Amino acid sequence: MNIHEYQAKELLKSYDVPVPTGGVAYSDKQAARVAEDIGGSRWVVKAQIHAGGRGKAGGVKLVDSVDDVKKTADAMIGSHLVTAQTGPEGNLVHRVWVEQASQIKQEFYFGLVIDRATQRITVVASAAGGMDIEEVAVETPEKIFKEVVDPAIGLRDFQCRKIATAIGLKGRLMPQAVKLMKSAYRCMRDRDALQIEINPLAIVSAGEEEKLLALDAKILFDDNALYRQRGVTDLRDLSEEDPKEVEASGHGLNYIALDGNIGCIVNGAGLAMASLDAITLHGGRPANFLDVGGGASPEKVTNACRIVLQDPNVKAILVNIFAGINRCDWIALGLIQACGQLNIQVPLVVRLAGTNVEEGRKILAESGLAFITAENLDAAAAKAVAIVQG
Ligand code: ADP
Ligand code: MG
Repeated sequence: MNIHEYQAKELLKSYDVPVPTGGVAYSDKQAARVAEDIGGSRWVVKAQIHAGGRGKAGGVKLVDSVDDVKKTADAMIGSHLVTAQTGPEGNLVHRVWVEQASQIKQEFYFGLVIDRATQRITVVASAAGGMDIEEVAVETPEKIFKEVVDPAIGLRDFQCRKIATAIGLKGRLMPQAVKLMKSAYRCMRDRDALQIEINPLAIVSAGEEEKLLALDAKILFDDNALYRQRGVTDLRDLSEEDPKEVEASGHGLNYIALDGNIGCIVNGAGLAMASLDAITLHGGRPANFLDVGGGASPEKVTNACRIVLQDPNVKAILVNIFAGINRCDWIALGLIQACGQLNIQVPLVVRLAGTNVEEGRKILAESGLAFITAENLDAAAAKAVAIVQG
Protein backbone atom coordinates (compact mmCIF):
# COMPACT_ATOMS: atom_id res chain seq x y z
CA MET A 1 0.00 0.00 0.00
CA ASN A 2 1.19 3.44 -0.96
CA ILE A 3 0.49 6.74 0.78
CA HIS A 4 0.82 10.38 -0.24
CA GLU A 5 3.92 12.49 0.38
CA TYR A 6 2.15 14.60 3.02
CA GLN A 7 1.02 11.51 4.91
CA ALA A 8 4.54 10.07 4.77
CA LYS A 9 5.96 13.35 6.06
CA GLU A 10 3.48 13.48 8.93
CA LEU A 11 4.28 9.90 9.86
CA LEU A 12 8.04 10.42 9.64
CA LYS A 13 7.71 13.59 11.70
CA SER A 14 6.06 11.57 14.46
CA TYR A 15 9.28 9.52 14.51
CA ASP A 16 11.43 12.67 14.78
CA VAL A 17 12.55 12.83 11.17
CA PRO A 18 12.86 16.56 10.37
CA VAL A 19 10.44 17.68 7.63
CA PRO A 20 9.41 21.17 6.46
CA THR A 21 6.41 22.81 8.13
CA GLY A 22 3.38 22.42 5.90
CA GLY A 23 -0.27 21.62 5.54
CA VAL A 24 -2.58 19.83 3.15
CA ALA A 25 -5.24 21.71 1.15
CA TYR A 26 -8.22 20.55 -0.91
CA SER A 27 -8.99 23.98 -2.38
CA ASP A 28 -7.17 27.13 -3.44
CA LYS A 29 -8.58 29.09 -0.48
CA GLN A 30 -7.45 26.44 1.94
CA ALA A 31 -3.99 26.47 0.34
CA ALA A 32 -3.75 30.25 0.84
CA ARG A 33 -4.75 29.85 4.48
CA VAL A 34 -2.14 27.14 5.01
CA ALA A 35 0.52 29.44 3.53
CA GLU A 36 -0.54 32.28 5.85
CA ASP A 37 -0.40 29.97 8.85
CA ILE A 38 3.07 28.76 7.91
CA GLY A 39 4.24 32.35 7.46
CA GLY A 40 7.44 33.40 5.72
CA SER A 41 7.74 34.61 2.17
CA ARG A 42 8.37 31.52 0.02
CA TRP A 43 6.37 28.34 -0.25
CA VAL A 44 6.30 25.18 -2.30
CA VAL A 45 2.99 23.88 -3.65
CA LYS A 46 3.13 20.15 -4.32
CA ALA A 47 0.51 18.05 -6.10
CA GLN A 48 -0.33 14.94 -4.06
CA ILE A 49 -0.57 11.85 -6.22
CA HIS A 50 0.77 8.35 -5.74
CA ALA A 51 3.59 8.83 -8.23
CA GLY A 52 6.98 10.47 -8.26
CA GLY A 53 8.59 12.57 -10.98
CA ARG A 54 6.30 15.48 -10.12
CA GLY A 55 9.09 18.06 -10.06
CA LYS A 56 9.86 17.59 -13.75
CA ALA A 57 6.18 17.49 -14.69
CA GLY A 58 5.07 20.76 -13.10
CA GLY A 59 3.69 19.18 -9.94
CA VAL A 60 6.11 21.00 -7.60
CA LYS A 61 6.03 24.80 -7.76
CA LEU A 62 8.06 27.33 -5.83
CA VAL A 63 6.10 30.57 -5.25
CA ASP A 64 6.67 33.77 -3.31
CA SER A 65 3.29 35.25 -2.56
CA VAL A 66 0.15 33.92 -0.90
CA ASP A 67 -1.73 34.93 -4.03
CA ASP A 68 0.53 32.71 -6.14
CA VAL A 69 0.04 29.84 -3.70
CA LYS A 70 -3.68 30.22 -4.31
CA LYS A 71 -3.35 30.43 -8.11
CA THR A 72 -0.97 27.46 -8.24
CA ALA A 73 -3.21 25.34 -6.03
CA ASP A 74 -6.20 26.27 -8.18
CA ALA A 75 -4.38 25.17 -11.34
CA MET A 76 -3.20 21.88 -9.80
CA ILE A 77 -6.35 20.73 -8.01
CA GLY A 78 -8.66 19.01 -10.45
CA SER A 79 -6.00 18.64 -13.14
CA HIS A 80 -4.45 15.40 -14.33
CA LEU A 81 -0.75 15.32 -13.64
CA VAL A 82 1.24 13.21 -16.07
CA THR A 83 4.70 12.22 -14.85
CA ALA A 84 7.24 9.59 -15.92
CA GLN A 85 5.71 7.33 -13.28
CA THR A 86 1.99 7.71 -14.12
CA GLY A 87 0.13 6.27 -17.08
CA PRO A 88 -0.32 8.47 -20.18
CA GLU A 89 -3.60 9.86 -18.85
CA GLY A 90 -1.98 10.92 -15.57
CA ASN A 91 -3.42 10.99 -12.05
CA LEU A 92 -6.19 13.33 -10.92
CA VAL A 93 -4.93 15.77 -8.29
CA HIS A 94 -7.41 15.97 -5.40
CA ARG A 95 -5.21 17.93 -3.00
CA VAL A 96 -1.94 19.79 -2.65
CA TRP A 97 0.60 20.03 0.13
CA VAL A 98 1.86 23.53 0.84
CA GLU A 99 5.15 23.80 2.70
CA GLN A 100 7.84 26.22 3.67
CA ALA A 101 10.37 26.63 0.84
CA SER A 102 13.88 25.73 1.87
CA GLN A 103 17.12 27.18 0.67
CA ILE A 104 18.78 24.03 -0.57
CA LYS A 105 22.57 23.63 -0.43
CA GLN A 106 22.77 20.03 -1.51
CA GLU A 107 20.42 17.16 -2.27
CA PHE A 108 20.98 13.50 -1.31
CA TYR A 109 19.11 10.28 -1.77
CA PHE A 110 18.26 8.29 1.34
CA GLY A 111 16.23 5.12 1.40
CA LEU A 112 15.43 2.01 3.39
CA VAL A 113 14.38 -1.09 1.48
CA ILE A 114 13.94 -4.76 2.19
CA ASP A 115 16.63 -6.52 0.22
CA ARG A 116 15.10 -9.83 -0.80
CA ALA A 117 18.49 -11.47 -1.36
CA THR A 118 19.72 -10.90 2.22
CA GLN A 119 16.16 -10.76 3.63
CA ARG A 120 17.17 -7.67 5.58
CA ILE A 121 16.40 -4.00 5.76
CA THR A 122 19.09 -2.19 3.81
CA VAL A 123 20.05 1.46 4.00
CA VAL A 124 20.67 2.99 0.58
CA ALA A 125 22.15 6.47 0.15
CA SER A 126 23.78 8.60 -2.48
CA ALA A 127 25.21 12.08 -2.81
CA ALA A 128 23.77 12.09 -6.33
CA GLY A 129 20.25 12.64 -4.96
CA GLY A 130 17.38 14.76 -6.18
CA MET A 131 15.32 13.96 -9.20
CA ASP A 132 17.47 11.55 -11.26
CA ILE A 133 18.30 8.74 -8.87
CA GLU A 134 16.94 6.08 -11.27
CA GLU A 135 19.54 7.12 -13.88
CA VAL A 136 22.31 7.13 -11.26
CA ALA A 137 21.43 3.56 -10.31
CA VAL A 138 21.76 2.43 -13.92
CA GLU A 139 24.71 4.53 -15.14
CA THR A 140 26.90 5.08 -12.06
CA PRO A 141 25.94 2.46 -9.48
CA GLU A 142 29.24 3.07 -7.63
CA LYS A 143 27.75 6.35 -6.39
CA ILE A 144 25.17 4.44 -4.38
CA PHE A 145 26.13 3.18 -0.91
CA LYS A 146 24.44 0.39 1.00
CA GLU A 147 24.46 -0.89 4.55
CA VAL A 148 22.66 -4.07 5.57
CA VAL A 149 20.92 -4.06 8.96
CA ASP A 150 20.99 -7.13 11.21
CA PRO A 151 17.39 -7.44 12.46
CA ALA A 152 18.52 -8.84 15.83
CA ILE A 153 20.67 -5.76 16.54
CA GLY A 154 18.97 -3.00 14.57
CA LEU A 155 20.61 -0.08 12.79
CA ARG A 156 23.74 0.93 14.73
CA ASP A 157 25.30 4.39 15.01
CA PHE A 158 28.52 3.27 13.32
CA GLN A 159 26.56 2.11 10.28
CA CYS A 160 24.83 5.48 10.02
CA ARG A 161 28.18 7.28 10.31
CA LYS A 162 29.64 5.04 7.62
CA ILE A 163 26.82 5.88 5.22
CA ALA A 164 26.88 9.58 6.14
CA THR A 165 30.64 9.74 5.57
CA ALA A 166 30.32 7.94 2.25
CA ILE A 167 27.92 10.59 0.94
CA GLY A 168 30.05 13.44 2.29
CA LEU A 169 28.23 14.55 5.43
CA LYS A 170 30.42 15.77 8.26
CA GLY A 171 30.72 18.13 11.24
CA ARG A 172 27.46 19.14 12.85
CA LEU A 173 25.48 17.34 10.21
CA MET A 174 26.86 13.98 11.32
CA PRO A 175 24.83 13.59 14.53
CA GLN A 176 21.74 14.87 12.69
CA ALA A 177 22.27 12.26 10.01
CA VAL A 178 22.62 9.47 12.57
CA LYS A 179 19.44 10.54 14.35
CA LEU A 180 17.50 10.90 11.12
CA MET A 181 18.54 7.49 9.81
CA LYS A 182 17.70 5.74 13.06
CA SER A 183 14.33 7.52 13.27
CA ALA A 184 13.45 6.48 9.73
CA TYR A 185 14.57 2.93 10.55
CA ARG A 186 12.25 2.81 13.59
CA CYS A 187 9.37 3.95 11.42
CA MET A 188 10.19 1.27 8.82
CA ARG A 189 10.34 -1.48 11.44
CA ASP A 190 7.39 -0.45 13.62
CA ARG A 191 5.01 0.25 10.74
CA ASP A 192 5.85 -2.80 8.62
CA ALA A 193 7.03 -0.71 5.71
CA LEU A 194 8.65 -2.33 2.69
CA GLN A 195 10.32 0.86 1.56
CA ILE A 196 10.93 4.39 2.76
CA GLU A 197 12.41 6.87 0.32
CA ILE A 198 13.57 10.38 1.16
CA ASN A 199 14.59 11.97 -2.12
CA PRO A 200 15.79 14.55 -1.68
CA LEU A 201 17.22 14.54 1.76
CA ALA A 202 18.65 18.06 1.71
CA ILE A 203 21.16 20.21 3.49
CA VAL A 204 19.30 23.51 3.88
CA SER A 205 20.32 26.85 5.38
CA ALA A 206 18.83 27.63 8.76
CA GLY A 207 20.07 31.12 9.50
CA GLU A 208 23.83 30.89 9.89
CA GLU A 209 23.62 27.15 10.39
CA GLU A 210 22.91 24.22 8.14
CA LYS A 211 20.53 21.37 8.82
CA LEU A 212 19.21 18.20 7.26
CA LEU A 213 15.60 18.13 6.11
CA ALA A 214 13.48 15.50 4.34
CA LEU A 215 12.03 17.44 1.39
CA ASP A 216 10.21 14.51 -0.18
CA ALA A 217 8.99 11.26 1.33
CA LYS A 218 7.54 8.07 0.00
CA ILE A 219 6.51 5.03 2.03
CA LEU A 220 5.35 1.67 0.77
CA PHE A 221 3.69 -0.63 3.31
CA ASP A 222 3.49 -4.40 3.42
CA ASP A 223 -0.12 -5.33 2.54
CA ASN A 224 0.25 -8.58 4.47
CA ALA A 225 0.86 -6.67 7.70
CA LEU A 226 -1.94 -4.12 7.35
CA TYR A 227 -4.18 -6.15 9.67
CA ARG A 228 -2.00 -5.06 12.58
CA GLN A 229 -1.45 -1.47 11.40
CA ARG A 230 -4.76 0.25 12.00
CA GLY A 231 -3.27 3.76 11.84
CA VAL A 232 -1.69 2.95 8.49
CA THR A 233 -4.80 1.51 6.82
CA ASP A 234 -6.60 4.77 7.63
CA LEU A 235 -4.17 6.49 5.25
CA ARG A 236 -5.25 4.44 2.24
CA ASP A 237 -6.50 6.55 -0.68
CA LEU A 238 -8.68 4.31 -2.83
CA SER A 239 -9.00 6.96 -5.55
CA GLU A 240 -5.33 6.32 -6.38
CA GLU A 241 -5.86 2.62 -6.97
CA ASP A 242 -7.29 0.66 -9.91
CA PRO A 243 -11.07 0.51 -9.19
CA LYS A 244 -11.15 -3.15 -10.29
CA GLU A 245 -8.41 -4.04 -7.79
CA VAL A 246 -10.30 -2.18 -5.03
CA GLU A 247 -13.56 -3.98 -5.83
CA ALA A 248 -11.73 -7.33 -5.96
CA SER A 249 -10.11 -6.85 -2.56
CA GLY A 250 -13.53 -5.92 -1.12
CA HIS A 251 -14.73 -9.39 -2.20
CA GLY A 252 -11.60 -11.08 -0.83
CA LEU A 253 -10.21 -11.56 -4.36
CA ASN A 254 -6.83 -10.58 -5.80
CA TYR A 255 -6.98 -8.85 -9.17
CA ILE A 256 -3.95 -7.80 -11.19
CA ALA A 257 -4.40 -5.81 -14.39
CA LEU A 258 -2.19 -6.62 -17.40
CA ASP A 259 -2.39 -5.40 -20.98
CA GLY A 260 -3.51 -8.32 -23.18
CA ASN A 261 -6.99 -9.61 -24.06
CA ILE A 262 -7.48 -12.94 -22.25
CA GLY A 263 -9.03 -12.64 -18.79
CA CYS A 264 -7.83 -15.28 -16.32
CA ILE A 265 -9.72 -16.61 -13.32
CA VAL A 266 -7.54 -18.95 -11.31
CA ASN A 267 -6.95 -20.16 -7.78
CA GLY A 268 -3.57 -19.44 -6.22
CA ALA A 269 -0.71 -17.24 -7.33
CA GLY A 270 1.38 -20.19 -8.58
CA LEU A 271 -1.38 -21.41 -10.86
CA ALA A 272 -1.89 -17.81 -12.01
CA MET A 273 1.76 -17.63 -13.09
CA ALA A 274 1.53 -21.00 -14.84
CA SER A 275 -1.65 -19.87 -16.64
CA LEU A 276 -0.01 -16.65 -17.82
CA ASP A 277 2.99 -18.65 -19.04
CA ALA A 278 0.78 -21.13 -20.91
CA ILE A 279 -1.15 -18.32 -22.62
CA THR A 280 2.09 -16.61 -23.59
CA LEU A 281 3.58 -19.89 -24.82
CA HIS A 282 0.65 -20.29 -27.20
CA GLY A 283 1.17 -16.78 -28.53
CA GLY A 284 -1.56 -15.02 -26.56
CA ARG A 285 -1.52 -12.17 -24.04
CA PRO A 286 -3.32 -12.13 -20.68
CA ALA A 287 -5.51 -9.11 -19.89
CA ASN A 288 -5.36 -9.70 -16.15
CA PHE A 289 -5.53 -12.40 -13.60
CA LEU A 290 -7.93 -12.81 -10.78
CA ASP A 291 -7.11 -15.17 -7.95
CA VAL A 292 -10.25 -16.48 -6.24
CA GLY A 293 -8.18 -18.07 -3.47
CA GLY A 294 -9.27 -21.16 -1.57
CA GLY A 295 -12.82 -22.28 -0.73
CA ALA A 296 -14.37 -19.92 -3.31
CA SER A 297 -18.17 -19.85 -3.06
CA PRO A 298 -20.34 -19.59 -6.19
CA GLU A 299 -20.90 -15.88 -5.30
CA LYS A 300 -17.17 -15.27 -5.23
CA VAL A 301 -16.79 -16.87 -8.67
CA THR A 302 -19.64 -14.71 -10.01
CA ASN A 303 -17.97 -11.59 -8.61
CA ALA A 304 -14.71 -12.71 -10.19
CA CYS A 305 -16.39 -12.87 -13.63
CA ARG A 306 -17.95 -9.44 -13.07
CA ILE A 307 -14.60 -7.84 -12.26
CA VAL A 308 -12.72 -9.49 -15.12
CA LEU A 309 -15.42 -8.39 -17.58
CA GLN A 310 -15.05 -4.75 -16.53
CA ASP A 311 -11.91 -4.64 -18.66
CA PRO A 312 -13.16 -3.84 -22.19
CA ASN A 313 -10.07 -5.50 -23.70
CA VAL A 314 -11.15 -8.95 -22.52
CA LYS A 315 -12.10 -11.06 -25.57
CA ALA A 316 -12.14 -14.48 -23.83
CA ILE A 317 -11.94 -15.74 -20.28
CA LEU A 318 -9.81 -18.66 -19.22
CA VAL A 319 -11.01 -20.26 -15.99
CA ASN A 320 -8.26 -22.50 -14.65
CA ILE A 321 -9.00 -24.17 -11.33
CA PHE A 322 -6.97 -26.85 -9.63
CA ALA A 323 -9.21 -27.51 -6.66
CA GLY A 324 -7.80 -28.63 -3.33
CA ILE A 325 -9.69 -26.64 -0.73
CA ASN A 326 -11.87 -25.35 -3.56
CA ARG A 327 -14.72 -27.41 -4.96
CA CYS A 328 -15.16 -27.75 -8.73
CA ASP A 329 -18.95 -28.01 -8.30
CA TRP A 330 -19.05 -24.61 -6.57
CA ILE A 331 -16.88 -23.13 -9.31
CA ALA A 332 -19.26 -24.54 -11.94
CA LEU A 333 -22.32 -23.21 -10.09
CA GLY A 334 -20.64 -19.81 -9.80
CA LEU A 335 -19.96 -19.72 -13.56
CA ILE A 336 -23.57 -20.62 -14.35
CA GLN A 337 -24.77 -17.96 -11.93
CA ALA A 338 -22.46 -15.44 -13.63
CA CYS A 339 -23.94 -16.32 -17.03
CA GLY A 340 -27.41 -15.71 -15.61
CA GLN A 341 -26.59 -12.42 -13.92
CA LEU A 342 -24.06 -10.84 -16.27
CA ASN A 343 -24.43 -10.25 -19.94
CA ILE A 344 -21.36 -12.28 -20.91
CA GLN A 345 -20.49 -11.72 -24.56
CA VAL A 346 -17.14 -13.47 -24.60
CA PRO A 347 -16.35 -17.21 -24.70
CA LEU A 348 -15.51 -18.93 -21.41
CA VAL A 349 -12.85 -21.63 -21.56
CA VAL A 350 -13.00 -23.78 -18.44
CA ARG A 351 -10.45 -26.23 -17.12
CA LEU A 352 -11.36 -27.92 -13.87
CA ALA A 353 -9.28 -30.42 -11.90
CA GLY A 354 -9.23 -31.71 -8.33
CA THR A 355 -11.94 -31.88 -5.67
CA ASN A 356 -15.41 -32.78 -7.02
CA VAL A 357 -14.20 -32.48 -10.60
CA GLU A 358 -16.72 -35.01 -11.98
CA GLU A 359 -19.61 -33.14 -10.38
CA GLY A 360 -18.29 -29.82 -11.64
CA ARG A 361 -17.96 -31.06 -15.22
CA LYS A 362 -21.42 -32.59 -15.09
CA ILE A 363 -22.96 -29.33 -13.89
CA LEU A 364 -21.34 -27.43 -16.74
CA ALA A 365 -22.33 -30.07 -19.34
CA GLU A 366 -25.95 -30.14 -18.20
CA SER A 367 -26.30 -26.36 -17.95
CA GLY A 368 -27.08 -25.98 -21.64
CA LEU A 369 -24.64 -23.06 -21.75
CA ALA A 370 -21.84 -22.81 -24.28
CA PHE A 371 -18.82 -23.37 -22.04
CA ILE A 372 -15.70 -24.49 -23.84
CA THR A 373 -14.08 -27.11 -21.65
CA ALA A 374 -10.58 -28.49 -21.64
CA GLU A 375 -8.95 -31.40 -19.84
CA ASN A 376 -5.70 -29.68 -18.95
CA LEU A 377 -4.06 -26.28 -18.75
CA ASP A 378 -2.15 -26.58 -22.00
CA ALA A 379 -5.27 -27.43 -23.99
CA ALA A 380 -7.27 -24.70 -22.24
CA ALA A 381 -4.66 -22.04 -22.97
CA ALA A 382 -4.45 -23.15 -26.60
CA LYS A 383 -8.23 -22.87 -26.98
CA ALA A 384 -8.39 -19.41 -25.36
CA VAL A 385 -5.61 -18.13 -27.60
CA ALA A 386 -7.22 -19.64 -30.71
CA ILE A 387 -10.48 -17.81 -29.86
CA VAL A 388 -8.93 -14.35 -29.55
CA GLN A 389 -6.78 -14.86 -32.63
CA GLY A 390 -9.56 -16.40 -34.69
P1 ADP B 1 9.26 14.50 -7.10
O1 ADP B 1 10.20 13.50 -6.52
O2 ADP B 1 7.90 13.92 -7.30
O3 ADP B 1 9.79 15.16 -8.33
P2 ADP B 1 10.00 16.27 -4.87
O4 ADP B 1 9.19 16.46 -3.65
O5 ADP B 1 11.23 15.45 -4.73
O6 ADP B 1 9.03 15.68 -6.01
O7 ADP B 1 10.36 17.70 -5.42
C1 ADP B 1 11.15 17.90 -6.57
C2 ADP B 1 12.24 18.93 -6.28
O8 ADP B 1 11.66 20.13 -5.83
C3 ADP B 1 13.21 18.51 -5.18
O9 ADP B 1 14.28 17.73 -5.69
C4 ADP B 1 13.67 19.87 -4.66
O10 ADP B 1 14.75 20.35 -5.43
C5 ADP B 1 12.47 20.78 -4.87
N1 ADP B 1 11.74 20.93 -3.60
C6 ADP B 1 10.86 20.09 -3.06
N2 ADP B 1 10.41 20.52 -1.86
C7 ADP B 1 11.04 21.69 -1.63
C8 ADP B 1 11.05 22.65 -0.56
N3 ADP B 1 10.29 22.51 0.52
N4 ADP B 1 11.84 23.74 -0.69
C9 ADP B 1 12.60 23.91 -1.77
N5 ADP B 1 12.65 23.06 -2.80
C10 ADP B 1 11.90 21.95 -2.75
MG1 MG C 1 11.40 13.35 -4.91
